[in-house]
Amino acid sequence: MSKIVEYKQLAILSSKAEVGWKRYFAKNKRKLEGMDQQVHALHDQISKRTDCLSCANCCRTLGPRITDKDLDRMAKALRIKSSEVIKTYLRVDEDGDMVFKTMPCPFLGSDNYCSIYESRPKACREYPHTDRKRFYQIYNLSIKNASTCPIVYEVLEQLTNNG
Ligand code: SF4
Ligand code: SF4
Repeated sequence: MSKIVEYKQLAILSSKAEVGWKRYFAKNKRKLEGMDQQVHALHDQISKRTDCLSCANCCRTLGPRITDKDLDRMAKALRIKSSEVIKTYLRVDEDGDMVFKTMPCPFLGSDNYCSIYESRPKACREYPHTDRKRFYQIYNLSIKNASTCPIVYEVLEQLTNNG
């Protein structure tokens, strides 16, 4: 079984591949609308052979958007008031969204485990989105995510090389 790319190489690799990925999208946009099953199969296959605990690049570099529901769940898990969670960990960004004050994420341990894993924000649970319905709608976002996440990079590479 082939090893997936190291996250440290992603910025260079994905910037080299970007033109080809965009070209594929321009040519296959309609076709891609009916290809969720194929994309999700790639996602499952690649996720299974990816060790997120030896990566954690998303938790180190991307700030998830935190909803009110996320806030309630986090407060419960941390056994503190929502206002205390906001004061200690969160800020409002330039788009008006709640995000973590600091990155890497304050809940990321040195062993790459998430200390609030069961209660982590929805955006964390859904990342890297390559198993999302109507994948074609987030194809361009995935090109961006490919410079952070090896799973996304591999999905795009395999999809566009076989398409
Ligand atoms: S989801 Fe992607 S970026 Fe995040 S830890 Fe797993 S492989 Fe790394
Ligand atoms: S809450 Fe957990 S899963 Fe989300 S960014 Fe922080 S460490 Fe990663």
